[in-house]
Amino acid sequence: MRTPVAYLAERLGELPQASALEQYQAWWQTIGSALSETVDRAGTPWLRQHDRFGNRVDELLLPAGYTALVQEGYKHGVIWRVIEHSDWATSFALGYITSYYDPGVYCPHTVSLSTAVPLQKYGTPALRERYLSPMLRRDGTAWQGATWMTEIGGGSDLGANVHTRAVPNGESYRLTGEKYFCSNLNAELAVVAARPEGAPAGVRGLALFLVPRVRPDGSLNYFIRRVKDKIGTRAVITGEVELRESIGYLLGSAEVGIYLILEVLNISRVANSVGSVALLQRAIDEARAFAQQRVAFGKPLAEQPLMRAQFERWERTLRVAFALAWETMRLLSEVWAQTPPYSARYHLFRLLTHLAKYWTAEQAVQATKWCMEVHGGAGVLAEYGIERLLREAMVLPIWEGGSHRQMLDALEVIQRRNAHLLLLEHLQPFAEPAAIQAWRERIDAYLQQPLEVQEADLESLIPPLAEWVGTVLQAAYQ
Ligand SMILES: Cc1cc2nc3c(=O)[nH]c(=O)nc-3n(C[C@H](O)[C@H](O)[C@H](O)COP(=O)(O)OP(=O)(O)OC[C@H]3O[C@@H](n4cnc5c(N)ncnc54)[C@H](O)[C@@H]3O)c2cc1C
Repeated sequence: MRTPVAYLAERLGELPQASALEQYQAWWQTIGSALSETVDRAGTPWLRQHDRFGNRVDELLLPAGYTALVQEGYKHGVIWRVIEHSDWATSFALGYITSYYDPGVYCPHTVSLSTAVPLQKYGTPALRERYLSPMLRRDGTAWQGATWMTEIGGGSDLGANVHTRAVPNGESYRLTGEKYFCSNLNAELAVVAARPEGAPAGVRGLALFLVPRVRPDGSLNYFIRRVKDKIGTRAVITGEVELRESIGYLLGSAEVGIYLILEVLNISRVANSVGSVALLQRAIDEARAFAQQRVAFGKPLAEQPLMRAQFERWERTLRVAFALAWETMRLLSEVWAQTPPYSARYHLFRLLTHLAKYWTAEQAVQATKWCMEVHGGAGVLAEYGIERLLREAMVLPIWEGGSHRQMLDALEVIQRRNAHLLLLEHLQPFAEPAAIQAWRERIDAYLQQPLEVQEADLESLIPPLAEWVGTVLQAAYQ
């Protein structure tokens, strides 16, 4: 079967850190995959809330090998390559490899990166020294981060649903509230959305805080209420957290806090896109391996005309999805250091991010479902590992903002920033002028409709636009 590094090289040509990527891939092949299966089979980790003396400890009892499974990516540089060398491409290539073998593991890596970057950009030197430095360790003890925004009322409408309050207290704040979906629960740090006392209602009143797991005296800074029992992504522990006058440090200025929260989410959305493409590759590779050896009606399934046509279609989808995700990653690596107010290039990045997150995640779900069908009945048996791919895929269109939200946010950046014009200009070197003109006219006509119709009809605009953009961008990734 072709490897993830082989596919990266096929699309990107020579990989600057090829030997590090090969090493990381070899670790997955020899050690990581077995650990990953153990963790998946072990299911939801157990939360030990009290020690034998009745003290609150909130300890997560993890399956054997869990720490090694997660730490290997940090050793290879998911975080330190970005923070120390601005090398986003290698970080995301590592993420591609991780997701090929276990998309769940890429969540801790992603949310840690999404913690480290705002800490680097907006943290004071003292905060960076205390909290960012341990995240850059390469010895298997790297600190991890987490990104906790969602509360019980729902994640899409953060402005209405974030009720966590932040009260100033000297140089820090005290945060009180409850977070309903907290991934990477065992992280040492989290970036958290909260509303400073006196801030306006809605999203404009939200700010981003760094919240460490323990206080300077070693006591718990927040409490874990419970761990979620999930369909998949068991390599990331997700649960509920209670903030009780928890110490938090404001990152950046509260006035532009919502933009900082969106910066965090957008890094995770790019990672979600890259991870979705890796899962897409894995689904095609697994399906092909099966179809080449399963014989029906006198020849291997892979040689049956219908099957052959489907493989060709999915290979094309993979190339399109790769181009869309990787171009978005490339733009992120260009604009990540910007702070509000952003440049036009940043708005182009935002539009591409929504298109890529939406389209690649949807394709990953469809591809894993198709891969199961290629396996016939064997596809639903745990021993073939295919049902797991489908379980892992199901969350990709949901977290980091659901598919509907991505479509709506793409529309918003088109309406408010004319980001479609930036996109069409960006595609000029690769696309036929007539195609660019046709899309310009199509979007202009779309924007003439009443606002409600624009929202209601998004499925007629965003999926074909995302697919076309990826198709055009393939020219840059041959
Ligand atoms: C396994 C897992 C781990 C997670 N980890 C984290 C985490 O670490 N940190 C964190 O902050 N969050 C986390 N989340 C939460 C995740 O970000 C939310 O699930 C997501 O943002 C959607 O919010 P919601 O589930 O509350 O859905 P809702 O906001 O209730 O939305 C329900 C549905 O309605 C759609 N919708 C919303 N608005 C509109 C509209 N105007 N028009 C049409 N459709 C609309 C949504 O796209 C969605 O499909 C996690 C979720 C899961 C499943």
